[in-house]
Amino acid sequence: LLLSIVAIALDTARLFQQALYDGLTGLFIRRYFDLRLAEEERRLRRFGGRLALLLMDIDHFKAVNDRYGHQQGDTVLRAVADIVKASVRDILDAPCRYGGEEFVVIMPDTDLPGALVVAERVRQTVEAYVMSGPEGVFHVTLSGGVAVMDSRNGATAASLVEKADQALYEAKKNGRNQVRFAETGNGTAP
Ligand code: GH3
Ligand code: MG
Ligand code: MG
Repeated sequence: LLLSIVAIALDTARLFQQALYDGLTGLFIRRYFDLRLAEEERRLRRFGGRLALLLMDIDHFKAVNDRYGHQQGDTVLRAVADIVKASVRDILDAPCRYGGEEFVVIMPDTDLPGALVVAERVRQTVEAYVMSGPEGVFHVTLSGGVAVMDSRNGATAASLVEKADQALYEAKKNGRNQVRFAETGNGTAP
């Protein structure tokens, strides 16, 4: 009986663990992102520090699905997710699937230059990665938006996401396959 209780407990722990991850990509799910960002914001307010957010969206992904099929689209999503995961710090950073073909990374204790290095690494690796489908090889690109907050610039979790989203929008508008960053905060901090 004791053994089966232990087994059930372990099973429950495993299910809780699995519930945090997206089934297709293995990245954290959106819900985890929301909770984690709120937690990081509280930590920052209390103890100070800084935090960077990187929001990414695959370019013309609808065309990938249309041309190669949804299955192949899923394969592309997995490949891009693997690159995102491999490009960030293990354990410290939180790479999440934000939406369908959108990814977001929470990078604690990271400044703007640091975040831009990571963003460029992801962008360039994705651009260079050779996808192979039934019709031959092809490439995809992604666009990114970076925003940072620190305990003095008055940003909130919500404003951080909004800024990163605006920066991403700028990257799209400017021709895609690029990373843009947003000025964060209330304008009173350096
Ligand atoms: P843009 O460069 O402006 O981002 O263009 P886009 O085509 O990537 O943008 P849009 O938001 O119009 O299209 C996103 C597409 O992603 C639409 C949807 O069919 C596809 N998608 C979302 N989730 C999944 C998924 O889990 N698997 C597959 N295969 N496709 C998905
Ligand atoms: Mg999108
Ligand atoms: Mg897209």
